[in-house]
Amino acid sequence: MTTIQAVRGTRDILPDQVSYWQRVETTARDILTKAAYREIRTPVFELTSLFERGIGEATDVVGKEMYTFHDRDTPPRSLTLRPEGTAGVVRAFIENSLFAQGGVQRLWYKGPMFRYEKPQAGRQRQFHQVGLELLGSPNPRADAEVIAIATDLLQSLGLRDLQMRLNSVGDRVDRQRYRDALVAYLTPFQADLDPDSQNRLTRNPLRILDSKDARTQQIAQNAPSILDHLSPESQRHFEQVQQLLTDLDIAYQLDPCLVRGLDYYTHTAFEIQSDHLGAQATVCGGGRYDGLVSELGGPETPAVGWAIGLERLILLLQQAQPVPTSQPDFYLVCRGEKAEAQSLVLAQKLRHAGFSVDLDLSGSPFGKQFKRADRSGAVACLVLGDAEAEAKTVQVKWLQSGEQQPMSQADLLAMPEILRSEITVVRQVTAHDSV
Ligand code: ATP
Ligand code: MG
Repeated sequence: MTTIQAVRGTRDILPDQVSYWQRVETTARDILTKAAYREIRTPVFELTSLFERGIGEATDVVGKEMYTFHDRDTPPRSLTLRPEGTAGVVRAFIENSLFAQGGVQRLWYKGPMFRYEKPQAGRQRQFHQVGLELLGSPNPRADAEVIAIATDLLQSLGLRDLQMRLNSVGDRVDRQRYRDALVAYLTPFQADLDPDSQNRLTRNPLRILDSKDARTQQIAQNAPSILDHLSPESQRHFEQVQQLLTDLDIAYQLDPCLVRGLDYYTHTAFEIQSDHLGAQATVCGGGRYDGLVSELGGPETPAVGWAIGLERLILLLQQAQPVPTSQPDFYLVCRGEKAEAQSLVLAQKLRHAGFSVDLDLSGSPFGKQFKRADRSGAVACLVLGDAEAEAKTVQVKWLQSGEQQPMSQADLLAMPEILRSEITVVRQVTAHDSV
């Protein structure tokens, strides 16, 4: 019989890997909570029209990458697995009138996203993002705040060698003026552009600057710069963002080719990249989107946000430092009818007292169980034979030193604090020895 495999572009995150994910998730939650961001959880699928309007039909994401399907409703309606988080968060913000609470809303999310792309290292069809949205402030301090939080998060995870590229795409009027100048410059080169870029010339010309095609890149190098097309107010906003980043000691490089082609993107755009990720270099992408909330039917609400790709982040983490997988405090071995019956009760009592316990279910000879105890990384092995079960005792074998002592089960459970500190000491000594 053929075995069924995971769908191309999806991946299992196996137990050995999960400690990296948990570390990233804990660090993210910590940093975002300290900055007064509140978590929001929106559905994994939405009406397709949300993404068509919220991301834009001229984008690759909507044009080629969405997982779109009909469910069983009549008349049939088109649904899509979310390819990113912002559209759903903004929909929820409008639908639940979060704007009515006044002031700014600081929201963050994490979870799986879906895009039909060519799978490769750092690019999957189901991938994960952590993202944040700061809604309700036009202030350059909001732009700098979200960038500072992204930088903080990456640094707290110990990542180095990251570069931030920064640009401004101005407001709607600036961009229209720039778009005209860009199309005028590119049109004579139309035949030399790659096919995608030729298509974009009328639909979404700013994205041509983003092309990965060598010849198109060469042409784009001499294109007029958006930074020469900013109004004085847009220029002031951008200068303030840069000054704030400098005050925060956050390094960046200006890159006028960093653009987001859609009408609702305004002012600041940024990406954080690593040299250690090959072609999929961008870990974090974000910027200001003052036009999106009203585009989706809400009140005019300036906003800024970013999203971090967790697979890429974790690839970097694995290169930087191994994260140990969690190990139990106790490994409980048992053999004999009475002992086996009692073992689960003892394990549960220890767990309730706050210890982690791995219980051997094999019933195999003690020798085999001891080998498994060694491999488990537990601090101590608890040995329960029928004699111990009868006497309500247990042998405590400290695996590091090999010392063994009998104890009554009641005593073992009576002083969890003392036992806990003993375990902590053994763990510290073991960690120290292994450095
Ligand atoms: P790219 O140019 O790499 O396709 P993007 O501009 O499509 O990125 P965004 O929509 O800005 O990416 O998403 C933010 C982040 O999410 C990216 O910087 C990346 O880290 C991650 N990401 C996007 N698409 C994928 C994917 N298919 N697989 C894994 N991570 C992804
Ligand atoms: Mg992409």
